[in-house]
Amino acid sequence: MTKEILRIEKLNKFYDKRQVLFNIDFSIKQGEVLALLGPSGSGKSTLIRCLNGLEHFSSGNLFFAGKKLVPTEKNWQRLRQKIGMVFQSYDLFPNLNVLDNILLGPTKVQKKNHDQAKQEAISLLQRIGLTDYTAAYPRQLSGGQKQRIAIVRALALHPELMLFDEVTASLDPEMVRGVLEIIKELSEKDNMTMIIVTHEMNFAEQIADRVLFLDDGHVLEETDGKQFFVNAQTKRAREFLESMK
Ligand code: ADP
Ligand code: MG
Repeated sequence: MTKEILRIEKLNKFYDKRQVLFNIDFSIKQGEVLALLGPSGSGKSTLIRCLNGLEHFSSGNLFFAGKKLVPTEKNWQRLRQKIGMVFQSYDLFPNLNVLDNILLGPTKVQKKNHDQAKQEAISLLQRIGLTDYTAAYPRQLSGGQKQRIAIVRALALHPELMLFDEVTASLDPEMVRGVLEIIKELSEKDNMTMIIVTHEMNFAEQIADRVLFLDDGHVLEETDGKQFFVNAQTKRAREFLESMK
């Protein structure tokens, strides 16, 4: 049986008095790609941020590798080391060069041997074709390059789950493909478990094993990835897909 990586039960989230996520249930297994789709404001970012403690959910349970999270700050810190996340905005440290951006987590947080971490960082950079930029600073990179580095930086921590929140949304069109290729390769070659929020519907169709469609903070449907794009169950989802064309 394939190992379950993450499960969410009856997750509710309020911002002040306003509820933005309602009784969300889902799970994801080792190697699966889950696309989290839905209109702007439907709660995708909030949900994804609740999965690694960037937002605290108001009620519900989170299980990681079958173990229920007791939501203390220490447990969140521990969990965050197993979950890599890349956002829409490039969040590289501007005062550190590319190599040091990648090394910070492995050496400072995970206390790995510096030389070993460096070797690994360089082979990750080789993989994305950016070894020439080891000593460059983020301001010297294009948006697409920054996002590829941000992905590699998350991978350097050997996450068991990767979260991607609209990582290509701020990129010039010609930069988008290179970033999506890396994510695809992570799924196909590394069998990485991933939750992806994206506006790139062709990409989602290619990569998603399952789609969770959110509307107004509710999961309106959970559908097999191939089915969703040709035969969504709800009218709302079909309208959404039409509007994305
Ligand atoms: P999506 O990522 O699908 O566009 P969000 O998760 O960003 O949706 O937002 C869901 C809802 O929560 C929206 O109504 C948004 O205005 C609200 N929201 C998001 N972040 C905050 C916040 N920090 N404080 C208050 N309301 C928020
Ligand atoms: Mg969002």
